[in-house]
Amino acid sequence: MKHPKVTIVGAGNVGATTASLLLLKDLADVVLIDVADGMAKGKALDLMHMRFNECFESTVLGTGDYADTADSDIVVVTAGVARKPGMTREDLIGINSGIVRNVLESALPLSPDALYLLVTNPLDVMVNLAARVSGLPTNRLFGMGGVLDSARFACAIAQETGISPARIDALVVGAHGEAMLPLPRFSTIDGVLVSELLDAEALARVTRNTVQAGAAVVELLQTGSAFYAPASSIVRMIEAILGIDTAPLSVCAHLDGEYGIHDVYMCVPAHLGATGVIEVVELDFNDTELAQLQNSAAAIKQQLSQGII
Ligand code: NAD
Repeated sequence: MKHPKVTIVGAGNVGATTASLLLLKDLADVVLIDVADGMAKGKALDLMHMRFNECFESTVLGTGDYADTADSDIVVVTAGVARKPGMTREDLIGINSGIVRNVLESALPLSPDALYLLVTNPLDVMVNLAARVSGLPTNRLFGMGGVLDSARFACAIAQETGISPARIDALVVGAHGEAMLPLPRFSTIDGVLVSELLDAEALARVTRNTVQAGAAVVELLQTGSAFYAPASSIVRMIEAILGIDTAPLSVCAHLDGEYGIHDVYMCVPAHLGATGVIEVVELDFNDTELAQLQNSAAAIKQQLSQGII
């Protein structure tokens, strides 16, 4: 079967790790592009040298020239600055919005039919700003944040209970930031609701650990932010697009009245497929959950008013 062509813009930690996972899983032919073109070329060459040991058929090309990205099926945007200790994701708005605009202006004319998967932070703001500058149909523009937050929630539950994450199904929606909304009523251990298994104190602890997970990594690394779990979350979304993973995922997707929220992209459960976002899944939220999600939407809209793109 022909491999899809996946362009990854930004050959830094997240981009290169995503490329590595796509190759090891033999999922796609990868183009790695960066303003630091030597780094993109060097990492691509290094990745190709894994082929002998790992025996994958996928190819990888490193470049600084957008012509090489033409006719991509999926464009993953990881270009931008990552946060350092003491910074919030929101501190990156000014610099990263210019980078995302530049990337879209360069990639879109050459891959007008591609799906665009944004990763650059602050994620929610970047996806909403990208919608404004790109004019992409809503199904073909979406972002990765909720899959990572859900994975971190599953890890926090696993740590609290001593149960393997493989037996846990966890869901986080809302903004990819402090206002994220872990949902114990829609998360399960062996099919039993987490809200019924953990007491209020334990729930508060796992929620706090989930919200602070990204900052904890930044604090330890000192030089950048997380990249292994983010890359694995991007690949999970690509697997859903390719039909390998059919479960709904927490996707930063466009809301058009779902959950009573209009005209904003934020993380909600959604089905992905070959055409991008196929359907937003509307869960039966109680009043508190609905109010929290709507507050998240209001916070994103508020941040958008600060975006300079
Ligand atoms: P990094 O610094 O390791 O890599 C970023 C790369 O982008 C660098 O190689 C840089 O040269 C490149 N770049 C900058 N401007 C560019 C441009 N105009 N065109 C092409 N490439 C350009 O950073 P990272 O750790 O890989 O993180 C990348 C971004 O992803 C950051 O904004 C980070 O906050 C974000 N991130 C998001 C999530 C999420 O869940 N959405 C998770 C982790 C990281």
